[in-house]
Amino acid sequence: MSEEILANLYRIEIPLPRSPLKALNSYVIKDTERNLIIDTGWNQEECMEAMQAGLSELGVDLRRTDFFITHLHADHFGLLSNLVTDTSKIYFNEPDAGRFRAGFRWDDFAHFARLNGYPESELQASLQSHPGFKFRPNSDLVFSILKEGATIRFGDYVFKCIETPGHTSGHMCLYEPNRKVFVAGDHILNDITPNIQLWSDDRNPLEEYFDSLDKVSKLDIELVLPGHRTLFRNCRERIQELKQHHQKRLDEIISILEKGDMDAFRVASEMSWDILCDSWDLFPVSQKWFATGEAIAHLKYLKEKGIIRSEMRKQRIVFSINRNHAIY
Ligand SMILES: [Zn+2]
Repeated sequence: MSEEILANLYRIEIPLPRSPLKALNSYVIKDTERNLIIDTGWNQEECMEAMQAGLSELGVDLRRTDFFITHLHADHFGLLSNLVTDTSKIYFNEPDAGRFRAGFRWDDFAHFARLNGYPESELQASLQSHPGFKFRPNSDLVFSILKEGATIRFGDYVFKCIETPGHTSGHMCLYEPNRKVFVAGDHILNDITPNIQLWSDDRNPLEEYFDSLDKVSKLDIELVLPGHRTLFRNCRERIQELKQHHQKRLDEIISILEKGDMDAFRVASEMSWDILCDSWDLFPVSQKWFATGEAIAHLKYLKEKGIIRSEMRKQRIVFSINRNHAIY
């Protein structure tokens, strides 16, 4: 159930049934004063059972426990409302807290999705299968906001907050300089690639993500505790691999647009995806949603660089190669 990784620092693996992510790594620091739980799993029965089993094995008393949430995704904080007590502090970042307070803005997402060519017939199913909607916490939560450079101390661990926007606009990691341990959330994963998506026009998440990767590569890190799958040590090499992965995706999108102008949904359908499906039409609708969001994030990056352009045609955003750009 639980596994000791370092002195008084444990991992509880929380299953995420029917998700390609498979499980979430929840980290627990046990101390005689207050304990800390980092990330929780979905608001769902299997997650709650695994969390309870792990916590009782460790003898963690929730009345003496605080929480740190790396980012606003339901697999990381959905279960929170079932775990917090009157004395719990929930440490979180301001951008993601602001989005949480604004609620799950499905109408805005749906409008933006339509503009990007997402089929009307699949929108409702996309909402119903969206983990952020299905497994969100079920009560109002009060957050203690942390900013870049702030520290939190639990037992012998003094964690420094590192803002790492990209995967979400407020994503935050924790760095323990004495032990050279880095709590990565979904910023850097070892076995899978963090998803970088965009569902509005006001950000450039891939640019933010590249900057956050460069920022973390300057830290002296010996052990990474990621939000999913295996722990790892080769942080700098992994950062290089992730940057190369996104560069390849950008190149792929340019070659797709060389074939003709198209909307983001169509671009996504032509991209290569690591999923066991014979064709785009057979993709589960939840995966089509993530794929389209990922395509939009990459298109936005290319557009901001001036490599591609976009224009409205029949209430759709259509992307094309900018032939005036220096690389053409
Ligand atoms: Zn995430």
